[in-house]
This record gives sequence, structure tokens and C-alpha cells, in this order.
Amino acid sequence: MPEMPALLANTLVPWFAKPTRVTTIESLAPRLRRVRFVGDALKGAHFEPGHEVEFRVGPTAFRHYTPTHVDVATGALEVVFFLHGQGPGSAWAEALQPGALVDILGPGGRFVLNREAQHHVLLGDETCLGLFVALLRALPPSANVSGAVEVSPGAEDWPGLVGLPLTAVPRTGPTPRGMALLTWLESSGLEGSTGTTAYLSGHAGSIVMLRKELLERRGFAKRDVRSKAYWADGKRGL
Ligand SMILES: Cc1cc2nc3c(=O)[nH]c(=O)nc-3n(C[C@H](O)[C@H](O)[C@H](O)COP(=O)(O)OP(=O)(O)OC[C@H]3O[C@@H](n4cnc5c(N)ncnc54)[C@H](O)[C@@H]3O)c2cc1C
Repeated sequence: MPEMPALLANTLVPWFAKPTRVTTIESLAPRLRRVRFVGDALKGAHFEPGHEVEFRVGPTAFRHYTPTHVDVATGALEVVFFLHGQGPGSAWAEALQPGALVDILGPGGRFVLNREAQHHVLLGDETCLGLFVALLRALPPSANVSGAVEVSPGAEDWPGLVGLPLTAVPRTGPTPRGMALLTWLESSGLEGSTGTTAYLSGHAGSIVMLRKELLERRGFAKRDVRSKAYWADGKRGL
């Protein structure tokens, strides 16, 4: 729920949230931050790679983010924040300081890894870096993984900054979002087959376009395409 009356939030959050403290903040790039939250309440939490958490980013505003991992033994959780600069979530993440007390709702969710797949194809944008780290951490080093992350020109090193062996594809000029990913897909020669699962995330419009390409032109079965929109043009929170 992206918005909630402040009075209701003040009542509900203390009941449901896990209190944590920010212990580490890394500025990976000017608009990319990795933040570590630690709290006893996270110890023993149920976490699956791909699960999301929710932060209260303003008196009435809540936003979703994806832990790269949760260490349920030590109660530590890490999130990679893309600071897109146009909303309260981005501003909140940018203002976080070590020592800050932060309530975390979750983790939970249904977007998870297909552990039966032999080939994992990851496609998304800057908001998905943490998600893709989480999915990859759960796979053996021998896993067959491919994919691309659409970024602004100049941010081609971002997948590498978070340890992802994925291709960065820069957006060019006035082309619609997702076109760089579509071009990558077209040149990849990728075809749907038993054992291949595609994960589409990030910008909602890009997901629609990529999903259509996979299902209608690349022979993917619906069950082999998992998608989760993380943000949409002009929309506040998803
Ligand atoms: C389940 C889930 C998990 C997510 N995990 C992560 C994560 O781990 N890391 C992360 O960085 N983000 C993540 N996101 C995306 C993040 O929640 C959204 O980008 C969210 O809109 C940010 O809130 P905001 O208050 O900054 O902007 P909002 O108030 O939601 O939006 C304000 C304006 O900014 C635009 N906008 C929102 N996001 C972007 C963007 N990325 N680029 C350009 N314009 C944008 C909107 O279209 C709107 O016009 C996740 C989203 C979901 C649903």
C-alpha cells in the first residue's frame, strides 16, 4: 500500500514492523546506494530470494524494495537503492545515515526463483539490481545465467558494482524504455525451451513489451516467464 493515513500508519507500523538500525551505507555510484540494516527482529525471519520489504518513507508514504539477502542468523538485511530522484522513496534512501532507526515490514512476496530451471534469464533495470543479486546468490556457481540490465548511459558498470555477471545495455536517445533490453533479446538468439525461465522486472511498460516478445516470438511458455513490475510511468509506488 503506497499511501496510508498517518494516524493509521502510526498505529499499525509498531505492531507489524521489525525495528532495525542502519549499520553501513556504501555509495556504489552517485545514484546507487547499498544499505545494511540490522535488528534482532530479523533473526529467524522467513526469507526467499526475490522477497520484498516495505519501508515507511514519509508520514503517509510506503515503498517496496528487495533485499539482496537476509542473514537470519545475525538479523542483517541489505538493499540496493537506485536514487532516481523523483519521489519520497528515493529521497528517503538518499537521506539515510548510519545509526538511523528504520522499521521494516516483511519480508514476503511471491516472486521467487524457479529452482528447477537449468537456464535463468534476468531482464530489468536499475531497480532490479538487488533482486538479481538475491536470485543469483541462491544459485550454484555452475548455474547457467544470462540477461541484461538497462541503465542510463555512463552507468554501464553498475551490474559489475553489485557483482552481477550481466550485460549492461544503455538507453539511447529518445527511444522508449525497454528498447535496449528488447534489442539485446533480439540479438541473443534466445528461444523458449524446457528448463529456461525468464525473470522480467523493473519498469512496467518494458515488462509488457518483453513478455510479448518472449511469448509471441520466442516460443516461451507462460509458465516460464515470471514478471514483477517495480514502478510505472507517472505512478507513485506499486
Ligand atoms: C516489490 C518491489 C521491489 C522493489 N525493489 C527495489 C529495489 O530493491 N531497489 C530500488 O531501487 N527500487 C526497487 N523498487 C522500485 C521502487 O519501489 C520504485 O522505484 C518506487 O517508485 C520508488 O518510490 P519513490 O517514492 O522514489 O517514487 P514514486 O513516488 O513511487 O514515483 C514518483 C515518480 O517517479 C517515477 N519513478 C519511480 N521509480 C522510478 C525509476 N526507477 N526511474 C525513473 N522514474 C521512476 C514514477 O513513475 C513517478 O512519476 C521495487 C518496487 C517493488 C514494487
